[in-house]
Amino acid sequence: MSLSNEAYEALRVSLGASAIVDESAEALAASSHDTWPVATKLALLDEHPYQADAVVRLASFDQVPEVLRIATQFSVPVTVRALGSSVTGQPLPVRGGIVLDVSAIPAQFEVNERNMTVTVTASMNGGELEDALVERGLTLGHSPQSLYRSAVGGWIATLATGQFSSMYGGIEDLATGYTVVLATGEVVELKASPRAAMGPDLRQLFIGSEGTLGVITSVTLKVFPLQYTRLTAFALPSVEAGLEIMREQALLSLHPMLLRLYDTDEARHAMVDREFASPVLFVGTRGPQELADVEMSLLTDMALKRGATDLGPTSVQAWMDRRYDFSTVENLLASEGGYAETIEVAHNWDGIQGLYHDLKRALAPLSDEVLSHFSHVYTQGTSMYMILLGRAGSNREALERLRTIWSTTMQVCLDNGAELSHHHGGGLARSPYSRRSLGSAHLVLEKVKAALDPAGILNPGKLGL
Ligand SMILES: Cc1cc2nc3c(=O)[nH]c(=O)nc-3n(C[C@H](O)[C@H](O)[C@H](O)COP(=O)(O)OP(=O)(O)OC[C@H]3O[C@@H](n4cnc5c(N)ncnc54)[C@H](O)[C@@H]3O)c2cc1C
Repeated sequence: MSLSNEAYEALRVSLGASAIVDESAEALAASSHDTWPVATKLALLDEHPYQADAVVRLASFDQVPEVLRIATQFSVPVTVRALGSSVTGQPLPVRGGIVLDVSAIPAQFEVNERNMTVTVTASMNGGELEDALVERGLTLGHSPQSLYRSAVGGWIATLATGQFSSMYGGIEDLATGYTVVLATGEVVELKASPRAAMGPDLRQLFIGSEGTLGVITSVTLKVFPLQYTRLTAFALPSVEAGLEIMREQALLSLHPMLLRLYDTDEARHAMVDREFASPVLFVGTRGPQELADVEMSLLTDMALKRGATDLGPTSVQAWMDRRYDFSTVENLLASEGGYAETIEVAHNWDGIQGLYHDLKRALAPLSDEVLSHFSHVYTQGTSMYMILLGRAGSNREALERLRTIWSTTMQVCLDNGAELSHHHGGGLARSPYSRRSLGSAHLVLEKVKAALDPAGILNPGKLGL
């Protein structure tokens, strides 16, 4: 038990009646799981290995400085939890202490239409914020598949990215500032501004820190006008042809809002057609109509030159309408012996094809279906997202299979010199590989951690710390 009676009393007194300190077995079991398939299978097996001593449900972010001061004083581990949509075990407590649940903190937001920003409480549900902006003719431009099940603070903490990142960028491009509470209780404002060259860009420091360096309380994000959108799908002769189109358009500095290349195995799902027999590229362009139309016509020329067939917008529109749906994975996981995993990685253009073929080969014996798509494009390379679907004899076997899928995927990525994660982050799934992945740069992370969190209370056991 890492929560001594003294620490417990100090927390109770400081929080008063407005926050809930919950030590019930149900609360501790519930916070032992996020949306990581491994954690889901453990829950189905009624195993809850990642237990805190108490769950503290805050009523306001104003309570965070005092909670962290007390936690530092008594060396109590603190694991922040927002909406728990992490698919890598990021908000799971591995050293006891408290889970700091910020999900019930009432949220507010304020739009500045002159600066095109919105400043929002970190606990706000992303989908609710987007809906409110759309009513004003605006959008965040950030559309993760988990939009309606993740919080704004969670996006910053995980270095999240959305399905339209080729146009709008990831959260690191979209956040112009935020406020963070350090482990020692100091409140730090990273001012919202277009750019600042007064030393290192400290705004990047906490982005992707997974609750290990501070607690984010409020965020300022860019907003964009809603604009005309064109969609189409191209059937392609090969994955290689699709990757070349993606690379070529990046070299021309095009910024289509949607580029998703599915290999044939996933194209059958994306096209909702079990007989579909080729890779497919979903394309969307957005902006003033003349510009979006020209961009679409350039992309069409590129695709046709590489042997594509233009299938029109219907299948892409259908995907847009169901793009937050995760039921294939959820239903399979919920069934006895069923398993499903999503693992996203990234590589440069000169390594991505080798990585794709190596992963397909290595994962084929481990699942019934190995689906792949490429959906976040850069001048230097792209992300690659693998979906593994399968059935084992029991939930226990399914759990073991999921663990083997993780270790196999990580090893193939390390062997190929690829990035181990594009956007789902480290969590428990990748923490054992953090040092190898970051190499000598891990030392910087360790030193920053020691300076900002001297008692090592914030989300211990993650990012190889
Ligand atoms: C169906 C589905 C689809 C997904 N699609 C995407 C996608 O398209 N793109 C993408 O990037 N991710 C995606 N994810 C992953 C996940 O939704 C993101 O990582 C999301 O940003 C997590 O937000 P959350 O509020 O649920 O945070 P949680 O899961 O509660 O926490 C995640 C991590 O952030 C830390 N944290 C949370 N809030 C704070 C805070 N205020 N201060 C400090 N640390 C904090 C926690 O300690 C933890 O380490 C998907 C997940 C699911 C289930």
